[in-house]
Amino acid sequence: MNFASLDLAPDLQKGIDACGYKKMTPVQEQAIVPARQGKDILAIAQTGTGKTAAFAIPILQRMIDSATEPTDTMPRALILTPTRELAEQLARTIGAYAEFLPLKVNAVFGGAKLSSEASKLKVGIDVLIATPGRLLEHIAEHNVTLSAVEYVVLDESDRMLDMGFVRDVETILQRTRKKRQTALFSATLSAAVNELAHKILHNHLEIRTTKANTAADTIEHVVYPVEERRKVDLFKDLLAKHDWYQVLVFTSTTHQADKLQKALREAKISCAVCHGDKRQNARRRALAEFRSGEIQVLIATEVAARGLDIPDLDLVLNYNLPYLAEDYVHRIGRTGRAGNKGNAISFVSREEERSLESIQRLIGSPIKRITQHGFEVSDRDALINKVSKQKRPGRLNKAGSTSIDKS
Ligand code: AMP
Repeated sequence: MNFASLDLAPDLQKGIDACGYKKMTPVQEQAIVPARQGKDILAIAQTGTGKTAAFAIPILQRMIDSATEPTDTMPRALILTPTRELAEQLARTIGAYAEFLPLKVNAVFGGAKLSSEASKLKVGIDVLIATPGRLLEHIAEHNVTLSAVEYVVLDESDRMLDMGFVRDVETILQRTRKKRQTALFSATLSAAVNELAHKILHNHLEIRTTKANTAADTIEHVVYPVEERRKVDLFKDLLAKHDWYQVLVFTSTTHQADKLQKALREAKISCAVCHGDKRQNARRRALAEFRSGEIQVLIATEVAARGLDIPDLDLVLNYNLPYLAEDYVHRIGRTGRAGNKGNAISFVSREEERSLESIQRLIGSPIKRITQHGFEVSDRDALINKVSKQKRPGRLNKAGSTSIDKS
């Protein structure tokens, strides 16, 4: 179904055309018409499915259908999202849809200067995008009032709950209009998301674009078994062999990210890191350089995992497997977006095999294993047998390498 068949306001259609969208994605096909009619929505939609347009387009259309006084400075739509990066991205994307509309779209988020955000709020924002903690600060400072908010979206709800924002979200919602339209978007449907949905939605429509907790079908997953200490070399080896234009690499810790960056820079591979220990400007710069194609490898921790839209990304590499199996789904959501084909590669050390098992259970299928010649992982039992047969007795240390007992 094309956007043109929705009969949207011409200036909204113009914004969508300028984004290059023609056909709707499945979540858009299911959500836009009922949301435009005023229905509350619970959508289980992965990142990359086009969910931003699915919730933003009906809100923008309804806002222009029932325009208020132009002097009104209070927001009428509120979108809550868990991280500053997502808030910025939503402001950019929704700002593009609304480019030709008389509506101001802006974001407030932790890490930015409170006073400059306060000035923006006082001038007036029609569609306010916010992280929950920062919004509460502005409410406490009387920089914004939510009494005119009649459209609310909770984006990445499962993540907001994981991050402990549930009370913040509930406090914020109490300050919006009682008679409002609410949409709850989540990548996964956990018991907590379900509970929140029943608390805040009225007579809602439930939309699922994929089976719960599955990864996008357009993604090809593979794992490379490799010893932890040999991951850098394997990565460099694969980079040299494949013609990858850009790779987003996830590590579990900031330390691993920094270490990998150092090793890649020594090998003259253009890269940057994006993680929680970096100042916001540095993170923004790293993302911008990656988006513009200036750098080949962006190394990120979980902070960047959620919802970040990096167009045409054809490969995500899990340098380490995430601690939570659900995070695997979120990480690889950066590839295979909006129906494009994507690839997800994971390096799996012996210690990570158990995490791999829970990921495979979650996504409901085994992941293809590739053994790269020269990087084979020695079987632990075989290693023990070999060592115990040797004349000089050796002992296995924790990391699985042999240490000779000289005593
Ligand atoms: P989202 O899931 O909202 O983050 O969107 C993922 C990507 O798909 C973004 O780059 C969007 O600009 C793009 N996108 C969303 N809807 C469409 C569409 N109907 N046609 C083409 N691209 C789209």
